[in-house]
Amino acid sequence: MAFPRNHLLPSLVLACSIGISCAAYADVKADMARLESIQLLSEKDNQAALVQLKQFYSQFNAETDYQVKIDTLRELSAAYFDSGDIPASEKSRAEIVKLAKANDDRETVVLSQVDQAYKLLEVGKFDAAIAKLDEIASVLKGSSRPENLMRLEIAYGVVYHAASKFEQALSHHLEALRLTDQLTQRKSLLKIRRLATLASLYLTMQNPEQTLIVTNDALALVAEVDSPRIIATLRQNQAMALGDLKRYPEALVSYERALKAAQEANLPKMEALILSNIADLHLRTHNFVRAENVARQALKKAEFIQDDPSIYNAKANIGFALGGQGKIAQAMEYLIPVLEHSREQGDKADVEATVGEISRMYEHAKMYKEALEYTREQQKISNELFRADRSKTVAALQEQFDADQRKKQIELLARENQIKDADIKNSRLQQIITLLGAILTIMGGIFIYMLYRKVKQTNERLEEVNQQLEFHSVRDPLTGLHNRRSFLELMKVRAEDVEPERRESDGDSPDCLMIMDIDHFKHINDTWGHSAGDAVLIEVAKRLRSAVRDTDMTLRWGGEEFLIFAPKTQPSLLMPLVDRVLKAIGSTPVIVGNNVIPVTVSAGYISLPFSGIPESACNWEKAMQLADMALYMGKVNGRNRAYGLLSLLVPYEQALPELERDFSAAIKQGMVEIAIVQGPQAS
Ligand code: GH3
Ligand code: MG
Ligand code: MG
Repeated sequence: MAFPRNHLLPSLVLACSIGISCAAYADVKADMARLESIQLLSEKDNQAALVQLKQFYSQFNAETDYQVKIDTLRELSAAYFDSGDIPASEKSRAEIVKLAKANDDRETVVLSQVDQAYKLLEVGKFDAAIAKLDEIASVLKGSSRPENLMRLEIAYGVVYHAASKFEQALSHHLEALRLTDQLTQRKSLLKIRRLATLASLYLTMQNPEQTLIVTNDALALVAEVDSPRIIATLRQNQAMALGDLKRYPEALVSYERALKAAQEANLPKMEALILSNIADLHLRTHNFVRAENVARQALKKAEFIQDDPSIYNAKANIGFALGGQGKIAQAMEYLIPVLEHSREQGDKADVEATVGEISRMYEHAKMYKEALEYTREQQKISNELFRADRSKTVAALQEQFDADQRKKQIELLARENQIKDADIKNSRLQQIITLLGAILTIMGGIFIYMLYRKVKQTNERLEEVNQQLEFHSVRDPLTGLHNRRSFLELMKVRAEDVEPERRESDGDSPDCLMIMDIDHFKHINDTWGHSAGDAVLIEVAKRLRSAVRDTDMTLRWGGEEFLIFAPKTQPSLLMPLVDRVLKAIGSTPVIVGNNVIPVTVSAGYISLPFSGIPESACNWEKAMQLADMALYMGKVNGRNRAYGLLSLLVPYEQALPELERDFSAAIKQGMVEIAIVQGPQAS
């Protein structure tokens, strides 16, 4: 990871006034100016900058200003890093520490430990990395050097981002951006870099609107730094955000600009990537001939720099572009090597995706025999992926859920701040009233009355915000359904309340858990847009609510996953309930504006207690896990259906490890009785 490039330091005027000769000051000033010009050069031509830096550094002697040395070493380290010479880069950094120690510069010494945090991160020790940064932060606390604080914030941002903790990453990168305002040197360049980082983060967080905003802020500053490399990055982010918003013609313009800048900056790998993205854009808009054309340019570029991932990426795009034109045989000439390569790499997910695309291509060409062949292969891989993928999916869902939660927490914090603001305003107004009251008693009412009203309004606002706060802590803001948190609360209360006998075995009316996941929801987002996706979620929530009893709890479990908790549901009522739910969702398409959007769900369901097993052995979490696996069976076997676990046919101790190890095998071995409820025919 690159040590973030940095900037020059302190008040040079001070150097003169505290007795350092002004001749020396002039030298320092000249050195700083020289360094700054090299820094700007590095934005355009890293190699040339490296040559100049080495030469500059070789002239240093005992008299050279400490800060000039440090900043030059930092720049050298970054330039070596960018040129791929990692050992040299690390050597420069070791030099910095040595020099800083000799000069009693504790902040710089401590800050160099950021590297250790990055190394911890690389070996997956996220908590330790954060602990390291916290340690550094405790030393830097109250520092008067904004560039040091900024560097620390960036490190936090990088670590949180790498751990997919996007909300935290965001708040640190925002703080780093804020700190750029306090810098004295190279402010624009550093600010642009911060904005560019934010733009990529927003892209990852699927927030294209915000990506565009920060990118535009950055682009407004680029004239000051003349860095085609940064322009290429910014335009590329801008284009991707526009693409996400389906503003294709504008996206294309941005890509063209990114391409031009990447050529200017002599970044062939980036050129290949941008060309691939352009091809992808054409594929998405079904401009297959243009897609083919651009993908071929990308291939040429990728072959020129011999970058394998770019080569295969380009070949895949050419293949799909040819397929789109109905040239299936030619398409396969490109796609087969891509497949082979993914197979060699052992990247099953990649193979599955490509195989899926190929089968769709054949299907489109009405070559059903071939389509079937590839569909079968896809299913086979799906099954193979079952275990690994399942846990990954669960982790990803958890991640997504956590992200949602965090977002909500931030919203709640923002609201809390609103309350605090209102509180502060309120107490100030009250002070004024008391004061005025004392002075102006004779003047009587009106003025004071107006102030009083304002206080009252603020109080009312306070109450409203408080209510919102309470609402949002148990409700999902989009759908108004209960959220995961309220379900967890319920389970806690249930564990305390449910009489032990009932938990031991309640064959007559156990509680039912049904987990649902919208089919191909990504496709819905991609085709009709994210806000249509949101509208679908709202409608699905509404339909679910209407399909269940008033006493049942419907909640949004995560992004596009829902959960129904139906207490005391007799087994004979279970299938009809599941059937009703599938029909409620799938029988009629969801209408959003002028769009008719077919929606189905896959589901898994289970009773609690399950199969007479005491909840002390199989609690709700275990049951949910089983239901979740059943849901996945529904996905693998064609979607729009529910798989239910009815009862175990072998002892629990024997079945559970097997189910956990290989769910579908356990079913095949007859360890568990399952039911399948088919969803309605497409309308
Ligand atoms: P499948 O059902 O077969 O698993 O396919 P899928 O496309 O639904 O797969 P996946 O679970 O990967 O996609 C879920 C998508 O839901 C990804 C995410 O962008 C989107 N999503 C999650 N939360 C929201 C939301 O609040 N609004 C919208 N519009 N989309 C969301
Ligand atoms: Mg999903
Ligand atoms: Mg889904």
